[in-house]
Amino acid sequence: MACRSAEGATSATTRLAIDLDAIAANWRLLRRRHRGDVAGVLKADGYGLGAARVAPRLLSEGCRHFFTAHPQEARAIRPLLGDAMLGVLNGLCPDEARSYVEHDLLPALGTLREIEEWSGEARRLGRALPALLHLDTGMNRLGLDAEEFDALVRRPWLLDGVELRYVMTHLCAADTPDSLANAAQRVAFARDCARLDTVLDRSLPRSVANSSGLFLGDGFGSDLARPGAALYGINPVPGRPNPMRPVLRLSAMVLSVRTVPTGASVGYNGAWTAGRDSRIATVGAGYADGLPRALSNAGRASFDGRPVPLVGRVSMDLTTFDVTDHPAVRPGAWLELIGPDLPPDEVAACAGTSAYEILTSLGPRYERDYTAL
Ligand SMILES: *Cc1c(COP(=O)(O)O)cnc(C)c1O
Repeated sequence: MACRSAEGATSATTRLAIDLDAIAANWRLLRRRHRGDVAGVLKADGYGLGAARVAPRLLSEGCRHFFTAHPQEARAIRPLLGDAMLGVLNGLCPDEARSYVEHDLLPALGTLREIEEWSGEARRLGRALPALLHLDTGMNRLGLDAEEFDALVRRPWLLDGVELRYVMTHLCAADTPDSLANAAQRVAFARDCARLDTVLDRSLPRSVANSSGLFLGDGFGSDLARPGAALYGINPVPGRPNPMRPVLRLSAMVLSVRTVPTGASVGYNGAWTAGRDSRIATVGAGYADGLPRALSNAGRASFDGRPVPLVGRVSMDLTTFDVTDHPAVRPGAWLELIGPDLPPDEVAACAGTSAYEILTSLGPRYERDYTAL
């Protein structure tokens, strides 16, 4: 977000630095971990960091498979991706087949209705159309359920004209290695794929792991892993040291510092009261910018590598910090709100949410600055 001076120059009071080299390094680390190919998941504008900048960078690293959730997101970045595969995880939206074909998007077909529509479009065009087939093995969200999968295996000709690039499934508890769900999904998927290979008389490539799935062991390897979060520095192995490089730093300039006496309160509804004479610093970012209101009286910033407690309510555009113990914090100083000193996973823990939500909530008011951290 920026204040515009009379001359028209902008002087930002918040900065969102995004390190594309670090994202690339994270992709290479995941690729080294996996026997098959590794895609880049770019849904929700590249987890809030800017799909249009992340996509070309991953492409130049050699990434040849990309995913978004929605077709609109996919259409926006399609021109940046050359002839790389671009899959739409949410599937084939009704009456959009023509547009998917025009933009060379591969739907992750997850219902018989979608399969019929895609195969119908192939018939109309007189050529095979590429797609992924999504099987539900326990998430109970998207993908063919057991009944629809049985119907498909009994009538494999429903896939006529559909060129299946991958059969995929999505793990529901990959971030919890001890969960029995992981092995159950692996077994169910292997069984389903074997049945499909038999009726189609070929061995279809498979796609299983998300970020955390890449750390579950060889049994969860496949022809194509689909990491998102780990590319963006989110810890794929919660509770253990994060193997990924940090990729962003969100900083905010201190707009004002004032001294409040013992007993005075700060911000809306006096949610925090000074227990001593205190110096309060205010920065120009709030919940409208993706700082969860749940950080009120619970979060922190970092200054010179030291924690600074967030006090009072996070409001829409402003947040306050107790800098009594940080005499160097004056107006114009910068506090790190998220970054190498304060990882998204830690901010999320303070707010009782997930790092995914922290990243995808980063607001449109930040100037994104693509630079080394
Ligand atoms: C979001 C998503 C991914 C990526 O998951 P991460 O946990 O961010 O790595 C992979 N596959 C599917 C189907 C998804 O929806």
